[in-house]
This record gives sequence, C-alpha cells and structure tokens, in this order.
Amino acid sequence: MHSAIVHVALQTPSHSGVGDLLSYASERPLPPGTLVRVPLGTREVLGVVWDADEATGELPDGATLRPIAGVLDGVAPLGLPWRRLVAFAARYYQRALGEVALAALPPQLRDLRPEQLARRLRRPAKGAGDTSDTIENIALTAEQESARSRISSEKGPFLLFGSTGSGKTEVYLRCVQEMLEADPTAQALVMVPEINLTPQLEERFVGRFAPRFGPGAVVSLHSGMTNPQRLASWLAAHSGSARIVLGTRMAVFASLPGLKLIVVDEEHDPSYKQQEGARYSARDLAIWRGREQDAKVILGSATPSLESWYASRPPTADDPEGGRYVRLHMPSRIGAGALARVRRVDMNQQPRRTVFSAPLLQAITERVARGEQSMILLNRRGYAPVLHCVDCGWKSDCPHCSAHQVFHKTDRTLRCHHCGYTVRVPYHCPTCGSPDIHPMGRGTEQLEEQLGDLLREVLRPDRTPARIARIDADTTKAKGALEAQLAQVHSGEVDVLVGTQMIAKGHDFRRITLVAAVQPDGALFSSDFRAAERLFALLMQAAGRAGRDAAYMAAQGTPCEMWVQSFHPKHAVFEALRTHDYEAFAAQQLKEREEAAMPPFSYQALVRADARTQEVAQGFLSAATAAAHAAQLPGLLDGTVVLFPPVPLTVQRVANVERAQMLMESSSRATLQRFLAAWQPVLQATRSQPEHKGLVRWLVDVDPLAI
Ligand code: ADP
Ligand code: ZN
Ligand code: ZN
Repeated sequence: MHSAIVHVALQTPSHSGVGDLLSYASERPLPPGTLVRVPLGTREVLGVVWDADEATGELPDGATLRPIAGVLDGVAPLGLPWRRLVAFAARYYQRALGEVALAALPPQLRDLRPEQLARRLRRPAKGAGDTSDTIENIALTAEQESARSRISSEKGPFLLFGSTGSGKTEVYLRCVQEMLEADPTAQALVMVPEINLTPQLEERFVGRFAPRFGPGAVVSLHSGMTNPQRLASWLAAHSGSARIVLGTRMAVFASLPGLKLIVVDEEHDPSYKQQEGARYSARDLAIWRGREQDAKVILGSATPSLESWYASRPPTADDPEGGRYVRLHMPSRIGAGALARVRRVDMNQQPRRTVFSAPLLQAITERVARGEQSMILLNRRGYAPVLHCVDCGWKSDCPHCSAHQVFHKTDRTLRCHHCGYTVRVPYHCPTCGSPDIHPMGRGTEQLEEQLGDLLREVLRPDRTPARIARIDADTTKAKGALEAQLAQVHSGEVDVLVGTQMIAKGHDFRRITLVAAVQPDGALFSSDFRAAERLFALLMQAAGRAGRDAAYMAAQGTPCEMWVQSFHPKHAVFEALRTHDYEAFAAQQLKEREEAAMPPFSYQALVRADARTQEVAQGFLSAATAAAHAAQLPGLLDGTVVLFPPVPLTVQRVANVERAQMLMESSSRATLQRFLAAWQPVLQATRSQPEHKGLVRWLVDVDPLAI
C-alpha cells in the first residue's frame, strides 16, 4: 500500500544533530519541498519533504515506517533554492535542518489541517495598506542616477554608501520598479531592520507599487503581524502573487520563486542578526541567497558595517582584486541640504552632575522659541539605572541577575531589564532602614522630567508652552503606540523628543533641526571591539534626523546641529563625527582590526554554556576544548583555529543562570566551519558525560556580533 519512503524535515523536541531527517511511508512519491503532516510521538506535526541525499544514517526498513498523516496539497512544494538556503543556514549556523526549516515557515502553517488551509487559500490575499496613491515620478539626482544605472548594468552585490537623506530609498524603489517591469514574474525582497520603526517606508512602497502592480503586490513580513496576516503574506510570496516583500530579518527565509532583487536597508544594523535559536545574519544570508538564486543584492547604509565596507574596497596596487562588492557612493543630501554641524561640549568644563550643559540648553530653547523641533538621545530607559543608599551603600541589585534593577519613577518600580523581575520602590533602605535612598545616573524618564523643569518658562512662537515627549520601549509597549507617537512628532505636536536609539533610526522627520546625544561616553570604553563602530553609526544616524528638508531649513535660515556632550570630546569617534567622515573612521578602525587580527580580518564563533554555577558552565567548555584537542579537530594542530579560554559573560548571571562563553577565531572561514562541524558531536558527547549530563545547555553563535 505504502509504496514510497519520504524523508521529512521537522522540528523535533531535542535535536539529535545537524542534518537529521525522519523517514515516513507515503502512498505516492512526494517531491522534495512538499508540506506534509506527520506523526511524531503522540503528536502530529508539520514537516517538509526533503531531498533524499540530505538524509543521513541508516534507513529503517520500509515496513516499519509510520505513514505520513496528510499532504498540504494546496501549497506548491517549496523550491530547490529555498531548500538550499535552509540547508546552508542550518549547516553554517550549526543548527538542525528541521529546526531552521520550520522556523522559516509562518507559525500558523504548523497548526492548520489541510482542509483548514484549503479554505484559507480560497480567500484572496490582502496587500499592505490601501491603494489610493497617485503614481509619482521623481527625477533622480545625478548621484542617484549613477547608482541606479550601475546597479542595472553590473552584477553586484552592491554596497550603496549614501549619506543620511541622500535618497537611498528612492534608488531602491527605482531598482525594484525596473526589475519588476522588465519581468512579469520577478519578485523583490526589501529588508529593513525594524519595520515598526518606519511605518512611512511601508506607505512609500505601497503608494508607489500598488497602483503599478495591483493592490496585493506589496506584502509585509515581520513579527509585529498577527499569525493569519503572516500566513497570508507568506502564501502570497510563495505563490508569486506578491511582487514585493517588505520585511525584517525573518523575511530572508521567505519563499520567493521569482526572486530577482534583494535590498538590505541599513545593512549595518545589529538587528539583522538573530539572537536566539539559529543565530543567523539576515544580511549575510541575503548575499548568499542572491548569489545562489541569481538575484541582485543591494546593501545600503550611511555607515556600513566594517565587514561590508572592507568587502567593497576598491582594488589597489597591493590588492589588485579588491573586494567582492561594488561600492556606490552618494555623498550629497537631496536638495543641497547640509548635514548637521557637530557641536561638542567638553563636560570636564561643566559643573559636576550637569545633565544639559548651558550652551545646549540655550540651543534647545532657541529652537522651541522658533517652533523647530529638537531630539535628545540617551540610550538608557527608566529614570535611573540604579537606586542606592547613602548610609550603607546598598544598591538595587537584581536578586536573580548580576545586574542592577532599574528605577522607574512613573510607576514607582525597580525593574530588572534582564529577567524582568519587578518590585515596588522601597521607602527605606532594605538593608539598614535609612530613608536616604537616591537614584544614581539617569535614564530617559529623568531627562524628560528635567527638560520639563528647564523649559518651563520657554514659549513657542504662538506663546504656548514647550511640549516634551518621550519615546522608548516603555512608552511604546501598547500596540500602535509607537506609530501614534511618531505621528505626533511628524505633525508637529512635539517640540522636544526624548528617546533611546529607537528615535535615531531611519525616520524621515522634517522639522528637526537639533539632535543631541547627552551621554554617549559609555560605549567608548566597552570591552566589545565593535562598540565604537556601533556608537559612530548610531550618532551618524541620529545626526541624519536633523535638517532633512532642505526647503524648510532654508526658510528657517539656521543650520541644523548635532550636539555631543562628552568627557572625551577629542575621541576619534567624535572627531570623525564632526567631519561626517565615515571613511576616515572606517580606515582607522580597519587598521586597528587588521593589527589585532579581528573581523573582518578573521572569523569568529562563540560557544556559550549556561549552568547553575560558573564552574559547571566553564568546566563543560574546558572539557569540550580538551576533547577537541585530543581528537585533533581541523585547524587545531596547525593553529589555524584558535580556541580562547572560557570566560563569564559581561552580565554573567541572568534569571539565576550562570553564563560562560568561549571564543574561537580563525583566519579561514572554511576551516572554522570544518572545525565547528567536527566539534558539534564532540560537544554533544561531552555533555552526555556523567559530570555534565543534565547540568549544562550550550549553543553556538557563528559570526557573533557581541562578544
Ligand atoms: P535616505 O534613505 O538616503 O536617508 P531618502 O530616500 O529617505 O534618503 O530621501 C530623503 C528625502 O528626499 C525623502 O523625503 C525623499 O522623498 C526625498 N527624495 C529622494 N530622492 C529625491 C529626488 N530625486 N528628488 C526630490 N526628492 C527626493
Ligand atoms: Zn542602607
Ligand atoms: Zn534580573
């Protein structure tokens, strides 16, 4: 009766290794990529029929196989390019194939029975947004036109290095349009770091393409959507009816049979790296996918990651090959707008505990009086990072983590930002009973409060008082809150906006003429070698929010400004910021990286172990290291792969779990990959030993962003 054996990728409760597939019996042969429902233990789960040659290990006798439970006939099998992408990602990021395959599918697909899905498929897909926009045709600037024509005629991948406000989005729109008009089956994938931060972008894409390609042409894919919405978008992409998928990192796994173009906007943004499960980089996978599926790839940024910058280096006499990417430069702002003038305040010269230095406060005041908007950036939410007792030195430490509980004044709580543990603010010191407990340091809540005091007497042009608003993870928890708050800024109902990095990214604010980073120094002396790169990108992004509307700036007649208050105003990061000189900054950073053999001049991976104690966590890593050396795994004997000793994480305990990690480094990506593949079973065997069994969890992070 059951004539065929099919190999199925599915999410098993505990994965038994990379490349594991389970075999089932089927009445008819099923092509790879077919979605099926299969029994697993006492449950029935979704699986994807996989290519036989990926199956490993002994095949059980056909007679003993359990039959598949059903086929999701309404959905065309997932294509070979999709399966290859999933298989590559699983291999490269050291995860089980089934886990990656299932995580790449919309969650609701897992729960729907074939007949439910069939009903769903009969409903027409709804595109994002409405379709009432007019077709606009903006004339490209010379820089935009040059970028567009090179993308059109060359193979890429491209790094579109364009200043904030240089019109990168317009170039993406034009390239997408050209591609889709030339080929009626072509599809484009446009990725952005955090879609809810840029609702405007979605509007721009829908407005431009729905009239051209129909109301269902643009769909979104991101975690802010409901499961039915995500399924509908996914199906539309998979069936080819959606021509453009606009999404966050997860969209890199969308099934797009006609994929011809991938855009990765703000490619430097750390949120392209998934931080749990398969820790993939959507940017790196985009490059891989583009090459495999013969789709053009455009990475865009005003402050490219040093990896992408290096990969797009032009050829020189010493380096006749140059990098693999084509670098395209758009240095000018649209409409001859000027980039923000950078003003640095030396905080050593300011009275102690100054939050807003006198010149900065003066500049903000003047803007309020002129009806212009200002934006104040502080990358720390809450009122104060810690509460302390003057008498005995008690600090509001989280009992479950090696971190302070943050003081939130609005709801009078102490909250741990790592494990979420929340208590009411005590009236007396819990240790000595003293009432003399005070906040130390400051967060966005406190800035908002202090600005309120400082600007109390300041009037707007219509003689009404200044309006201050705050945007951070606390004010935007409710669905739609962020969109509503951003809309207030856009419509001019806010004079001074206080917020975390959320407000620095991507927004096309029109009336902001001043941006200030009041306390950026923390990142300068971080142990993370990427901290300076991230700070520079954040400040450049933030500065890019000011003066975006050249006509408005000309009418106001004042320059836009980026203020930095620092105890180290001459630091290289701020020097480069002053001249908006990303290239100089990148050159200096790359020189340091090369001397220290850091990425992009080497490749890294981390193994992290979690356990009850540091000893157990580190002991496991040490034992696995010893076993790796004993087994002479690839790269170890000749030192191509270097294993560093286990260390605690910076925040070493979270929710009572002790965390340790060890770093691996190699000058060869391929050797590091070979080593990791060979190490995987060794790690598993080590964990099975009696002294570790049941006591540790471990995970691998390839190309980690934070070490
Ligand atoms: P970026 O993505 O580089 O920050 P945008 O694409 O958002 O820049 O462009 C900045 C602003 O300039 C937007 O409001 C956009 O509509 C406008 N713009 C872009 N290209 C042109 C053009 N060729 N002519 C006029 N305005 C343009
Ligand atoms: Zn005390
Ligand atoms: Zn905690």
